[in-house]
Amino acid sequence: MSKKNKTWKVKYSLLNYFKPSLALKNFSELDIFLLKTNNIKLFICDLDNTLAPVINAAPSFAAKKFVKDIQNMGILFYVCSNNHKGRVKKYCDALKPDGYRSFCMKPFVFRLKRLIKKLNIKPEEVLMMGDEFVTDIFAANKLGCKSILVLPLGGQGRSTSTKFTQFLEKKVHKRLAKSNMLLTYKTFKNDTKLL
Ligand SMILES: [Mg+2]
Repeated sequence: MSKKNKTWKVKYSLLNYFKPSLALKNFSELDIFLLKTNNIKLFICDLDNTLAPVINAAPSFAAKKFVKDIQNMGILFYVCSNNHKGRVKKYCDALKPDGYRSFCMKPFVFRLKRLIKKLNIKPEEVLMMGDEFVTDIFAANKLGCKSILVLPLGGQGRSTSTKFTQFLEKKVHKRLAKSNMLLTYKTFKNDTKLL
């Protein structure tokens, strides 16, 4: 395939919907000053396998510090999870984010859209972090937000998603990696803007 054809294919590929701005091992790896240089005003974070493994009811010290550090930069921190209210409320009562939403129904975006509108923030000033391409990253791209993919904290086997979603996740990951579309800190220059 010619170079021109290849560029065209990457530009218009459906894979773009699943492409995160940045891919990290976990939330602790994020250099939060990147949020300021990219003019982020709202940080939307997934809960299960992103901030904590599914089995953990309470936030870790690292998760609490992560949220506090971001809030101290003047950035709003919201937890948006597809999980039920009981789980999300209990976790967030201890985490103390600026707000939370349970039963978000990602990859559908209407609940997230409503939240962003209510807070009067532009989509390009929002960063979403999550462990799944097909829910978190897809929703972020649909909204026009920036996004960060992290590896599932509890490991692949501890996912809340169905077998079918897990199968899709693996496929998407493989294709993105093959097309060189996963930007990590290794390939990322500090002055680069998050797309
Ligand atoms: Mg998750």
